[in-house]
Amino acid sequence: TGCKIKPLLLLFLSYSLFFFFSLSLGWEEIGEVDEDYAPIHTYQVCRVLEPNQNNWLHTGWTQTQGAQRVFIELKFTLRDCSSLPGGSGTCKETFNMYYYEKREMAGEARYAKIDTIAADESFTELDLGDRIMKLNTEVRDLGPLTRKGFYLAFQDLGACIALVSVRVFYKRCPLLVRSLARFPDTIPGSEASQLVEVVGRCVNNSLALDEAPRMHCSAEGEWLVPIGKCVCQPGFEEVNGTCQECGPGFYRSLLQAGGCSKCPPHSWARESGARVCSCEPAYYKNPADPANMACTRPPSAPRNAISNVNETSVFLEWSVPVETGGRKDVRYNILCRRVLPEGRGLEECGASVRFLPRRVGVANTSVMVADLQSHTNYSFLLDAVNGVSLMANDHARQYVTLNVTTNQAAPSPVSLVRRGASGRSSITVSWAEPDRPNGIILEYETKYFEKEQESSYTIIKSQLTEMVVEGLKPSSAYIFQVRARTSAGYGAFSRRFEFQTSPSCDYYFCITTQQHQLYMESFAGCCHPYRRCGYSKAKQDPEEEKMHFHNGLIKYPGLRTYIDPLTYEDPNQAVHEFAQEIDVSSISIERIIGAGEFGEVCSGPLRLPGKREFQVAIKTLKAGYSEQQRRDFLWEASIMGQFDHPNIIHLEGVITKSKPVMIITEYMENGSLDSFLKKNDGQFTVIQLVGMLRGIASGMRYLSEMGYVHRDLAARNILVNSNLVCKVSDFGLSRVLEDDPEAEYTTRGGKIPIRWTAPEAIAYRKFTSASDVWSYGIVMWEVMSYGERPYWEMSNQDVIKAVDESYRLPGPMDCPEALYLLMMDCWQRERSTRPKFDEIVGVLDKLIRNPSSLKKLVNSSHRSGGHTHNNHQSGYTGEGGWVNWE
Ligand code: AMP
Repeated sequence: TGCKIKPLLLLFLSYSLFFFFSLSLGWEEIGEVDEDYAPIHTYQVCRVLEPNQNNWLHTGWTQTQGAQRVFIELKFTLRDCSSLPGGSGTCKETFNMYYYEKREMAGEARYAKIDTIAADESFTELDLGDRIMKLNTEVRDLGPLTRKGFYLAFQDLGACIALVSVRVFYKRCPLLVRSLARFPDTIPGSEASQLVEVVGRCVNNSLALDEAPRMHCSAEGEWLVPIGKCVCQPGFEEVNGTCQECGPGFYRSLLQAGGCSKCPPHSWARESGARVCSCEPAYYKNPADPANMACTRPPSAPRNAISNVNETSVFLEWSVPVETGGRKDVRYNILCRRVLPEGRGLEECGASVRFLPRRVGVANTSVMVADLQSHTNYSFLLDAVNGVSLMANDHARQYVTLNVTTNQAAPSPVSLVRRGASGRSSITVSWAEPDRPNGIILEYETKYFEKEQESSYTIIKSQLTEMVVEGLKPSSAYIFQVRARTSAGYGAFSRRFEFQTSPSCDYYFCITTQQHQLYMESFAGCCHPYRRCGYSKAKQDPEEEKMHFHNGLIKYPGLRTYIDPLTYEDPNQAVHEFAQEIDVSSISIERIIGAGEFGEVCSGPLRLPGKREFQVAIKTLKAGYSEQQRRDFLWEASIMGQFDHPNIIHLEGVITKSKPVMIITEYMENGSLDSFLKKNDGQFTVIQLVGMLRGIASGMRYLSEMGYVHRDLAARNILVNSNLVCKVSDFGLSRVLEDDPEAEYTTRGGKIPIRWTAPEAIAYRKFTSASDVWSYGIVMWEVMSYGERPYWEMSNQDVIKAVDESYRLPGPMDCPEALYLLMMDCWQRERSTRPKFDEIVGVLDKLIRNPSSLKKLVNSSHRSGGHTHNNHQSGYTGEGGWVNWE
């Protein structure tokens, strides 16, 4: 166990009698022989026949040598009282052991008792005869001792004893080297259960790992509970509990377990005690390399590099270098440079050039360089690198140069073809130049064919990016594809774009006056504008009707009057009068949904305190605006905020206290009505379309009742939500018109919606609810023709002229006659004879309640390019039971 007993006082009585035992009363020193007839000395007492014995045997002063706990081992024999002849009345079979701690001698009364000692085995007369010793051994411990020494004493009270030896000793934890830590020789504590903590010292050239090493010395002189350890410092290794230097050519790093290692290839350690080995010249180590890894070097240049040009792409390929430098992490970098003409040097290729898979750190041995310029010289530098290239100086790196000339390449495909104006037999298409023309575009080819008739197609060449394709069938879908040609040949065709021709009327409008009747009749044979018979296909689903008409049936009693924000001196006051300021933190912008006049229109959720989160549209005012623009922008909110109607876009509030300034309105999932209709061409039942119109009319009735004139009522300014509810929006224009007296006479800037505007508003700025009714008639026409442009590609001037000459738009395809008559009524020259919005709502409600009234389509009973009904007082009943809105 490592426990060592150090004898403190070793007593062999024969030897130390007069020396240690200073006082004896009744005890006798007897010389004897043991079983082997060797002489021994004992102290004996045997006064068993005399009563009242009290015989003391004292030791001399014994030094503790610092021990706080000592052990006393007694060897003795004891006579069995019962075997004594002559009775044993006063005979004892025990004796007592005492101690006293002070140096000065004292009487027995001052001694403290250690224990009463009894024999395990006593001897008899017989044993004496046989010379059998029956020696007893007893050990007692004594502590805590507080002085430098003590006396022992043995008290006999009438036994027959021979004390053969007294051995006094203490225990120590001996000096110990364990886990390279040295623990000194340590005396245990005074308590039997005590552990003395000892901090060890790391042996020479070692250091503690994590924490100082510790051990615990127990009362039994044993080292227990080792904690922590020491390790040899770098450059040393452990040999028999000591740390020895690594020899030359060997190294040991800090965390390396085990002994010193031989330096890895291409490295050396000239001195002993090396922590790392140094790389040979031109060899390097990456800091991330393990210590036992060989020193390595940069790779040599890639080999057998070749290029393969394909139009404006170059495929570069090479073999791995002869010398990889002893590493597995070889990668390749490519530097692309364009050779400038006339020896003007080289220029790095820009970001438009693509590298597949990448330009830097290519792991395999090829790369594709795409989107280069056609017919151009390039110089590529190809470079192999590995994990130590950065450590090596630059001139150690080797490049390969590849000079390449790209070919002429055909242009890339045209990406987008747009439709311009379209007529019954013609469509204007336009497109943008290809992204990569790869040369000068000499011409474009437009290929087109009637949908599903691909076998007979036509190709037309043009030099411009727009062309009018003529000779088409009316009301037919055509597929268009465009490709560009350079001196290198044709590029690929664009994808297919599908456009539709207009209904088959030779004229953009029809004549409403009596005097043009004859003129129109002469064209009657060719004029078939009512081809789509939607009604017969229409489902009469009562749910569907309900869904669209439950709104706006309520009359709005006690309606407020609209207040022109101009009446406010401070426009900001007007905004805050009618619009709630919303905290910017309640809104988050998620998507951009459109572009407004002043900035982007976005959407996202609005969280108002105490309200469920819901989606809103967010109109923003772009940065860098002038004060005037800010006012104009918020103008719309000042107007919108005054309205509260299910068919008027609802203002949630404004954000003016932070930038960007925002107007928050309800979110209309289907966006603006014109594009919504174009997208869903022919998809709705007549009842659904009438439902939309009814909603718009209801919103307009509300506005007119409030005394507000919209001035820009058009399908593009109607928004549609997910339930197909239409709401009037865009309340910004009236202001622009007021401000700009020129605006109504000019088409520049497109500010004046000539096609939607009543003649008297165009002629002398007479904007009234009656002019809004005119616009409403145009919106009806837009709706019934699924977003067709009113008057198609006619110029504004021609529209003004034609309208003035009493021409009116023809009824759209599949349009119920009743609706067309209503439109025509809206387009009465005399504004006082136009229906009021209230009446329009009434007519539409009647039509909805009586769907059979919608059955008769414009082209069903008589054919005409237009209607004359300047006698609307009598209605249209003569033409087959028309509903008279009066
Ligand atoms: P505006 O500023 O009214 O001309 O809006 C520009 C475009 O943003 C419109 O054509 C719509 O496509 C879209 N937009 C505006 N307001 C809303 C809204 N409340 N909900 C959905 N889209 C909207």
